[in-house]
Amino acid sequence: MGHISDTIRSLHARLPEGVELVAVSKFHPAEALREAYDAGQRIFGESRVQELIEKQPLLPADIRWHFIGHLQTNKVKQLVGKVAMIESVDSEKLLELIDRLSAAAGVTSRVLMQVHVAAEETKFGFLPDELLDYFTSRRFENLKATHICGLMGMATNTDDQARISDDFHKIAGLRQHILQLCPDLRGFDTLSMGMSDDYPLAIEAGSNLIRIGTAIFGQRQY
Ligand SMILES: *Cc1c(COP(=O)(O)O)cnc(C)c1O
Repeated sequence: MGHISDTIRSLHARLPEGVELVAVSKFHPAEALREAYDAGQRIFGESRVQELIEKQPLLPADIRWHFIGHLQTNKVKQLVGKVAMIESVDSEKLLELIDRLSAAAGVTSRVLMQVHVAAEETKFGFLPDELLDYFTSRRFENLKATHICGLMGMATNTDDQARISDDFHKIAGLRQHILQLCPDLRGFDTLSMGMSDDYPLAIEAGSNLIRIGTAIFGQRQY
């Protein structure tokens, strides 16, 4: 029993009912993912298209791959139809492109909209007001081959627990607000929040999908 399988098993045992784990395996070799798989893990998160495409054929077919990185428009075509979820849709332009290429490929893409609430300038995502505008004007009704399953977000990178918790509650509150605006919205259930250092706070705030890399696989070698 290695560290990876021990951590997967203890996370599975400890996570509350209804909270799913994405094992964030970016920059780790296929053997590391295999160990996690053998311990029962089925959802893996990758942040680079090329790396995901290379790892997929080396690993079992029942893995559900989640794309979690910034997705460049010129890579969308390679990704569509290959993943269970794109968690990091950070612009309408990207969303429309995913939709167009999914329709052309005859598949339905499941996506999350990435929300930007953190203090850092560098984080991608929709501002809360942009998302409210998107749903108020019901532009999602134009999508033909894309299902928006919820929101993904990150907290500010800080040691201030109150600030982190506040960011997560903001994202959870935004989902509620969107559901009030569009009560007929179906399957807008997923709230992907929480990483190695802050996932307990995220779960407290209502996360039902946590994305954990370092705590499972160790430090990444970039
Ligand atoms: C890398 C990454 C994670 C995992 O972060 P850890 O701190 O290693 O757990 C989670 N979410 C996103 C979007 C990431 O890019």
